[in-house]
Amino acid sequence: GDSRSDLRVAVIGLGRFGCSLGAELMRRGWDVLGIDSDAAMVQRMRDVLTHAATADCTDPEALDQLGVAEFSRAVVAIGDSLEASVLVASNLADAGVPHIWAKAVSRQHGRILERVGAHHVVLPEQDMGERVAHLVTGRMLDFIEFDDDYALAKTVAPACATGRPLGELRVRATYGITVVGIKRSGEDFTYATAETVVRRGDIVIVTGRTRAVETFAELV
Ligand code: ADP
Repeated sequence: GDSRSDLRVAVIGLGRFGCSLGAELMRRGWDVLGIDSDAAMVQRMRDVLTHAATADCTDPEALDQLGVAEFSRAVVAIGDSLEASVLVASNLADAGVPHIWAKAVSRQHGRILERVGAHHVVLPEQDMGERVAHLVTGRMLDFIEFDDDYALAKTVAPACATGRPLGELRVRATYGITVVGIKRSGEDFTYATAETVVRRGDIVIVTGRTRAVETFAELV
């Protein structure tokens, strides 16, 4: 169906990842069909999700009976069993589901998932580990890395970015980053422009190449 009007997601595997994902989708007003081979996991999510069903999704027949082929989005949230994860992803691909996400436990697992037809692979443990490393070692308050070596960080403004308008300080040319927003204590976030003067102690949101963002956040 039309992916824009179809606000339904099938989540296969209701472990910690699948439950958290399903609950968040519900909060956002989406319909969620959660499936797990373990009836106890399904029971726990009964009142949270739109539908919850017990089935072994390595069986294409089971997916078919639950109508998963009609969904435009599905997530394979099985981590512990590599075999089940790969089989389920390939069943979804065979069923023609147009947007398949899958959780991988390793990069190799992720590559296999892509091979069998998953369109998007997520590596929650690795991604979160990298992100926390940035928070632990640096002055960053938050850090997100996107594909292609591009990052967004929240950090305390280094002295070299304060006192004069950002345009005059030429932070973009000097550090290769763009200050997107600033936050003073007790005030809301505001967008930064060339005229913005960042003060000592301000929190800034910066974007740019990962390395440039890291370097900028390490400046004092
Ligand atoms: P997490 O780390 O997010 O808790 P787990 O890998 O522990 O993830 O949980 C995955 C869930 O997927 C488990 O609840 C498990 O019962 C379920 N699962 C495993 N194999 C299948 C399958 N073939 N069909 C449906 N659900 C499955």
